[in-house]
Amino acid sequence: MASQTKYVYDFAEGNRDMKDLLGGKGANLAEMTNLGLPVPPGFTITSEACKAYLDSGETPSGLAGEIGEHLAALESAMGKRLGDADDPLLVSVRSGAKFSMPGMMETVLNVGLNDESVHGLARQAGAGAETAGGADPAAAERFAWDSYRRLIQMFGKTVCDVPGDEFEHALEGAKKAKGTANDLDLDANDLRALVDAYKTIFVRHTGRDFPQAPREQLDLAINAVFESWNAERAVLYRRQERIPADLGTAVNVVAMVFGNLGPDSGTGVAFTRDPASGHQGIYGDYLANAQGEDVVAGIRNTVPLQDLERLDKTSYDELLGIMARLEEHYKDLCDIEFTIERGKLWMLQTRVGKRTAAAAFVIATQLVDEGLIDLDEALNRVTGVQLAQLMFPRFGEGAEVELLTKGMNASPGAAVGRAVFDSYTAVKWSRSGEKVILVRRETNPDDLDGMIAAQGILTSRGGKTSHAAVVARGMGKTCVCGAEELDVDTKGRKFTGPGGVVVEEGDVISIDGSSGAVYRGEVPVVPSPVVEYFEGQLDPAAEDADELVKAVHRIMSHGDEARRMAVRANADTPEDAERARRFGAQGIGLCRTEHMFLGERRQYVERLILADSDDEREKALAALLPLQREDFVGIFAAMDGLPTTVRLLDPPLHEFLPDITELSVRVAVAEARGEAHENELRLLQAVHRLHEQNPMLGLRGVRLGIVVPGLFAMQVRAIIEAAAERRKAGGDPRVEIMIPLVDAVQELELVREEAERIAHEVCEREGVEVPYLIGTMIELPRAALTAGQIAEAAQFFSFGTNDLTQTTWGFSRDDVEAAFFSAYLERGIFGVSPFETLDRDGVGRLVRIASEEGRATRPDLKLGICGEHGGDPDSVHFFHEVGLDYVSCSPFRVPVARLEAGRAAVQTAGSDSR
Ligand code: PEP
Ligand code: MG
Repeated sequence: MASQTKYVYDFAEGNRDMKDLLGGKGANLAEMTNLGLPVPPGFTITSEACKAYLDSGETPSGLAGEIGEHLAALESAMGKRLGDADDPLLVSVRSGAKFSMPGMMETVLNVGLNDESVHGLARQAGAGAETAGGADPAAAERFAWDSYRRLIQMFGKTVCDVPGDEFEHALEGAKKAKGTANDLDLDANDLRALVDAYKTIFVRHTGRDFPQAPREQLDLAINAVFESWNAERAVLYRRQERIPADLGTAVNVVAMVFGNLGPDSGTGVAFTRDPASGHQGIYGDYLANAQGEDVVAGIRNTVPLQDLERLDKTSYDELLGIMARLEEHYKDLCDIEFTIERGKLWMLQTRVGKRTAAAAFVIATQLVDEGLIDLDEALNRVTGVQLAQLMFPRFGEGAEVELLTKGMNASPGAAVGRAVFDSYTAVKWSRSGEKVILVRRETNPDDLDGMIAAQGILTSRGGKTSHAAVVARGMGKTCVCGAEELDVDTKGRKFTGPGGVVVEEGDVISIDGSSGAVYRGEVPVVPSPVVEYFEGQLDPAAEDADELVKAVHRIMSHGDEARRMAVRANADTPEDAERARRFGAQGIGLCRTEHMFLGERRQYVERLILADSDDEREKALAALLPLQREDFVGIFAAMDGLPTTVRLLDPPLHEFLPDITELSVRVAVAEARGEAHENELRLLQAVHRLHEQNPMLGLRGVRLGIVVPGLFAMQVRAIIEAAAERRKAGGDPRVEIMIPLVDAVQELELVREEAERIAHEVCEREGVEVPYLIGTMIELPRAALTAGQIAEAAQFFSFGTNDLTQTTWGFSRDDVEAAFFSAYLERGIFGVSPFETLDRDGVGRLVRIASEEGRATRPDLKLGICGEHGGDPDSVHFFHEVGLDYVSCSPFRVPVARLEAGRAAVQTAGSDSR
């Protein structure tokens, strides 16, 4: 018989490396427990139990018994029984998956309260107050009934799907009847009446009384947390954040401690450094006399954590000591949640905190300076995605717009868009191409799809740890929160600012997540300092250099030293080539020549296609030759000393001809008028002749070189002549000629023989030696599968992963995104488009086979990649693993590819033999 799976771990049994099983929260609670920090006792039910429950729809066998054993241990540690009528132990039931999903899943607090134990809780709270020196039975009564009403509310909503607003309405009604807007003005009697009202709501929606048995409450709450893994908003969040769908969540059952026992109690959240800038200091929010979620939900306005020093110096000092200890232990920025119960500090959570992209770079280098981590680790702590975020523009100064107010700078960046006041409108308008800013009093998880659709988020309530702030930072989205001067009226679809300024739905506003400023109107944006640094306009060594620029420079330099792969750029013009070089490109991996045949040069292509004699064709080619030569001279000059891969013409020829419908109409009209032009008629015939049902699988790439006499020859001649000219002028062109869309070695051999003959001819004539390589793209499955043969004729391979993805999956790269990808993503067939991140299993396998077999034939075969994946962080790691020599991507993505190639190298250091 298989041994019984262990589903429940006491906090003392876990550690921070057990996140797969215990989730992030459980693993870190265990770690803090073992560090001897004041964590309320509790236990964690594993994500394996969740998966088993979700698979079968039932509690896995053995789980109930294990929970019973751990509950008994918890009861004996606390000296109380769950839900005991005289002195009840209460517990919280909290979700906690491997990756943090803020606010996405469920929590139920105060489990164990019922009609009996609420009295016991009131008595104990009163007694506790007495020993604390200030007996206030009325406050104790109030506390107990408030806790009970919170349980019914959370349990009703989370476990039994009772609509949350019903409870909210009842609460609002009670406050109105009392003539107050503040929960704290409701006394014990009001709250007792509210409990009755809540129970009625509960029965109406569930058809049963609110469960009184404490263990039943506990079991139902645990199952609800399991089920919340598959809640719609959690599924959406995972897709957005690329968190695997099959991890499941762990559940933490923790002895309750209370922050709402009076003014000497409270609850808060804090960061060990500023998550927006990385600066050291004390960053957090505190709310006196409040319980758990009140801070995160942004329902009441918090005070800065520094105020705690005045309110409760002992707890404040202890908290600062713990924060320093945690930073040192985790060697990173941590965020924490804590509660103070009558002057006793309790740690409810910690984790390595989310941070903005800028803070990630700054903190990583600070930690190096503090001797906590080395530069390899600093490189590991930042990502290409973060670097890309830093390259976004920011707001410029001096714009003619009205500063409405300032809120908190919760998540940086600059966002401009039309104000919308609900998620539905945000999604709808953004689908029709509008840029929107989602404006809310505060956000909650139901706003998630609106937050995803919006350029930025603006709230009037809540601190830097409110839902809006945490989620926006996680998404890398601009957010200003807690702009208290704004009166947001979501029903009326408007907000009113200071001085009565009204902004209605559809009005353009601009928000600056770095300063917290909110403007009416559109603020122009300026480039990021990181881009200016890459452009060479900012000197990172300067005295007054921006700390972010210094940090980026330091980490990039280390990455460049560490990486094995080179990074090149896809560039077709001298300007692009120069920019790419400034961004650190070590060559051009793909110079597409097709744009060189557009504009006024189209006429020569038309002539080439229409030519019905060798003479006419040669004339057309002769007209194109000097133009092409000029193109290449410019590019070779910009890339002097670095390899430049020029690809011969790739797209179907008809792309250079007029549109078939337009031309047909023009000819028909002309004919009707008796004015038909001979040339137009011939053109129309040619367009018909060249028309293809599947042009991407038709006459393009090397096939053109074979069937259009002289075309590739002209391009090769232009390339070699340009290189010869550069050499004569003292330049150092490094020429690589690349043949696209090769399927079979025979195609390559034919084109190569001709190219070599022409190169030889030009060099003889010009009297200079032009070294060059001839290689091919690998962008068709047959080419990948016969790479061993193709390598006989190729000195390099460059993987064209755009076409290789298209042809491996059989997906038209031009059509699928609109046609059906959203359905595929929704159904989880893939988590991200294979045109964006390389499909390692399929396309990646072909890349691996071709690399291995190509190198088996020709050990010094140069290997690169020039599809879009060359600038995609995840794909870069794959190309490193496969052993490619370089990746090539658009100039703007070159820094990202450099960083990720460096990260890939340090991550595989030791196991990497190349
Ligand atoms: C490719 O197919 O990956 C490629 C780089 O070529 P293109 O995108 O021009 O087809
Ligand atoms: Mg291609």
